[in-house]
Amino acid sequence: MNLKELYQEIILEHGQNPRNLGKTDGFNKDAKGHNPLCGDNVHVFLKLNGQKIVEGISFEGSGCAISMASASIMTDLIKGKNEDEAKEIIEDFLGMIKKNPQLRSENLGDDEKTKLMCLSGVKQYPMRVKCATLSWHTLISAFENKKELVKTEN
Ligand code: ZN
Repeated sequence: MNLKELYQEIILEHGQNPRNLGKTDGFNKDAKGHNPLCGDNVHVFLKLNGQKIVEGISFEGSGCAISMASASIMTDLIKGKNEDEAKEIIEDFLGMIKKNPQLRSENLGDDEKTKLMCLSGVKQYPMRVKCATLSWHTLISAFENKKELVKTEN
């Protein structure tokens, strides 16, 4: 199996069996996002504790396999990180998906980087980049607890 096939397999697997689906118990922040070009919808729920550590994170949504897999992988990786680490990871991921060849974050382990790199295949397809980044932009908004809908288009 080559790298591309491995990546596709991980995306399909997460798309079919999303992790952290539903409302996390006792969430205290949330935000919604919408990608009109593809019809993807995501609602991200966060539970931050007093030390600003992500104790719980989950999502609800509907959309293509890329958007669901991205939300699933994201929630898996962000759980247990503190707010600063999470924001640094978000920035690193968005940089990688748009232009950087690799992830640079020191807050991610090698296996976590491999999971995120699965989504790097969308780089050459601007439409798909919006599917892959929707949940991440929505997570930024969830940290701010913003109530306006996050949209990939104006
Ligand atoms: Zn999509």
